[in-house]
Parts: sequence; C-alpha cells; structure tokens
Amino acid sequence: MSILTLNADLHSHSTISDGVLTPAALAERAKANGVDVWALTDHDEVSGVAAARAAAHELDMGFISGVEISITWAGKTIHIVGLNIDENNPDLIAGLAKTRSGRERRAQDMAADLASKVGITGSFEGALKYVGNPDLISRSHFARYLVEIGAAPSVSDVFKLYLAEGKPGYVPHRWATLAEAVSWIRGAGGAAVVAHPGRYDLSPLAFDSFFREFKEYGGIAIETVTGSHTVDQYDEYTKIANQYGFLVSRGSDFHSPEDAEVDIGKLPLLPKFSKPVWENWLSA
Ligand code: AMP
Ligand code: MN
Ligand code: MN
Ligand code: MN
Repeated sequence: MSILTLNADLHSHSTISDGVLTPAALAERAKANGVDVWALTDHDEVSGVAAARAAAHELDMGFISGVEISITWAGKTIHIVGLNIDENNPDLIAGLAKTRSGRERRAQDMAADLASKVGITGSFEGALKYVGNPDLISRSHFARYLVEIGAAPSVSDVFKLYLAEGKPGYVPHRWATLAEAVSWIRGAGGAAVVAHPGRYDLSPLAFDSFFREFKEYGGIAIETVTGSHTVDQYDEYTKIANQYGFLVSRGSDFHSPEDAEVDIGKLPLLPKFSKPVWENWLSA
C-alpha cells in the first residue's frame, strides 16, 4: 500500500461534539468501511480521544489523535483541524475550554431569536435532548430538533432556512483566533490543517491573506478530499496546496449515518501529486 492509497479518514465527529455515534461505535464503523488510519476530530474538545484510541487499537486500526478548533478570522468562522496532538497538553486543554465557554449563552440567544423571529419555541430544551456533552451544544443539535418538529425536512434544509449566517436563528459568535488555534496545536506537538477550505465565503484576495497568515504561524496542511468539497474542489485545492507548499489531508467529516454527505472511509483517494500530511507519521 502506498502513501496515497492508504484509506486515511482524518476528520470525524462523535457524541463528544455534534456526531451521533460514540467514539467506540465510530471506530467500529470506520473499521467496517475499510479505514486504515482514523482520526477523531471533535469540535473544540479532546475528551473523546482516549476512548477512540483504545477502540481503534482493539480493532487493529491506525489512529491519529485530533481536534477541530472553531476560529474567527476577518469576521468569518473557519475551522482548523489539529492532528497528531498530545491531547493531554494543558495549554491545548485550557484553550479549548475557553473556546467552548460561550456556547451555552449563544444557544440560549439562538433559541430566543428562533422564538421571537419565527415563532419556534422551546428549541434550547429541544436541542439539549440531542446533546451528548453538555459543554458542547452546537447548531447541529438545534438542526436535529428542528427536523424532529417538522420545521424543515432535513438538517441541511434547517441550516439553509434558519441557522446559516444571515438566517433568523444565526447568532454571531467570536471563537478563538487563528494565531491561538495554530499555537495550541503546535504546542501540543501537532500539525495544523485548514478544514474544508472550499466552504468559506472569502474572496480570492482574502483567501490568499488567510493562507499566508496560517503559514506564518506554522500551519502546514489543508484538506483537499473532504465530504464538504465537490469533486472539482479536490483538484482545485490540491493545486492550491502545491502552490503554497502545504501538505494535504483527507477526511469525511462524518457526523451521522442519517445525514452524511459521505460515509466514514468512503471518500475517493487523494489525487496524483498530493503530499499527504501523514507521510511522516506512518511507514507505508
Ligand atoms: P457550530 O459549531 O455550533 O456553529 O456548528 C457548526 C456545525 O454545524 C458544523 O460543524 C456542521 O456539523 C454543522 N453545519 C454547518 N453548516 C451546515 C450545513 N449547511 N448543513 C449541515 N450541517 C451544517
Ligand atoms: Mn460539526
Ligand atoms: Mn468543520
Ligand atoms: Mn468537522
């Protein structure tokens, strides 16, 4: 098996953030779907990593510790994945706790807006029914509740109608900074990776500044083959990675069997000319 044909899935979520499977159940699904190396990357939280690693070892599947950190850059929310981190690093743990700390307040504000603007009441309590970790209430939990009550037919429709930027349930939030996220990841011995770059609404000029700044801080990779990209974007971001001298990463961003763009382990392989972020971690 070569480094490019390895089935690495380095982006996924469990009940520790906004996924619906426990770390152990996710490990089993990854193994059953043929994953060779798996990373759990819960939002702003590493408390599932130990259970995930134990489950992966039990299944004889490769494992990389991970996290997905929410940041605000030029007023936009962007996600930075940290891979191969020491999840016990105190500065990382403290930084993630700080990043999570505004989520409950924000969720209460979202619920208040949904009630006053579109007449949907009780959504805070409703979202809580779907929350696995009280420290991490997210828009995904609201989305599942809004589907339950018939406000929209699917999670992605809920985002389009209610929860995306500019919609009635969207509450702006200030997350970590880019400098913080990259320094927490690097301080914990990890690699900083831009998650699903094709999803951000940035002009070409803003993207260029963002990538340069990310690189200056010591960021080393971007995701190319992800559940959030189109097939054309796999190639587009592979070219961009090579232009900027970034390594690339691959991950489904799997959250739930019901509303997955791509199941865990089921993405296409990396395009030719990719330099995978895992090349220094594994012997092929
Ligand atoms: P939050 O961190 O609370 O802002 O929630 C962000 C999460 O919402 C993302 O990690 C995705 O899981 C989910 N999400 C965001 N946009 C969409 C969308 N358009 N369709 C489905 N899920 C989405
Ligand atoms: Mn998510
Ligand atoms: Mn993300
Ligand atoms: Mn994700």
